Amino acid sequence: KKSFSPILNVKEVVKDFGGLRALNDVTISLSKGQILGLIGPNGSGKSTLVNLISGVYPVSKGEIHFNGKDITNMATHSIARYGIIRTFQDPHNVPTMTVKENLLLGTHRLFKSSLLACTLNANHSLREEEQMLTRVTEIMELCDLTDYADELAGNLPYGMQRMVEVARAILAEPQLLLLDEPAAGLSEGELEELNRLIRYVKNQGIPVILIDHHMDFVTGLVDEILVLESGGVIYSGSVEGMQKDHHVIRAYLGV
Ligand code: ADP
Ligand code: MG
Repeated sequence: KKSFSPILNVKEVVKDFGGLRALNDVTISLSKGQILGLIGPNGSGKSTLVNLISGVYPVSKGEIHFNGKDITNMATHSIARYGIIRTFQDPHNVPTMTVKENLLLGTHRLFKSSLLACTLNANHSLREEEQMLTRVTEIMELCDLTDYADELAGNLPYGMQRMVEVARAILAEPQLLLLDEPAAGLSEGELEELNRLIRYVKNQGIPVILIDHHMDFVTGLVDEILVLESGGVIYSGSVEGMQKDHHVIRAYLGV
């Protein structure tokens, strides 16, 4: 069914936190331009999977391969340098910097992976700075942030702070984008902008893992869906298949 060889392979991954098994034997593969939806009740292990792929926690068992490289248990900054970029459930913007400055920080992933390193190495050529500003302007247009370019990120309503978080991740030119509940707390209008942003990423061939509770939002975007329950995969496949799956309906959809 898949015409591309996978960019991301998560193989039989297990994660234990002390006596708690947060993930049990999870296998996923993701190809160019594919969006994988990741759903499941609170505490089912969704963020943990993103944390393992992005290197926040080591796996207890299993392997993670990216573009043919074994990245299992690599440091977060090495994984970011390979182009695996993630957002957090609570936005990690710099509240005392403007929206534009926060977005410019995103573009610096290409030069140095850490915030500290990028402030220490802020001597790019004028041409590079201009290219970055052009991309920041383009993304701000795409998600209606242009009018707020010079506002402090910390003064924005929560939904807009989330948009800045996603926009910054996109500006880092990800090879794989991991979005942990980006739609939580967004208005209908903001959901549309977020939808537009994610499609923009997909159209560039960048694979995305999208965690969210907003069922219509997820099913309208994804190519495949994975349902977790208590750390285990209870469904993996098409959205249509999920909607007919009795276990998922009982465990999660609640109808
Ligand atoms: P979800 O994102 O689906 O709501 P999480 O991945 O955050 O779920 O959590 C899965 C389980 O792992 C939960 O029981 C949670 O309490 C536990 N867990 C997550 N992170 C840690 C941690 N750092 N230490 C201990 N337990 C954790
Ligand atoms: Mg979570």
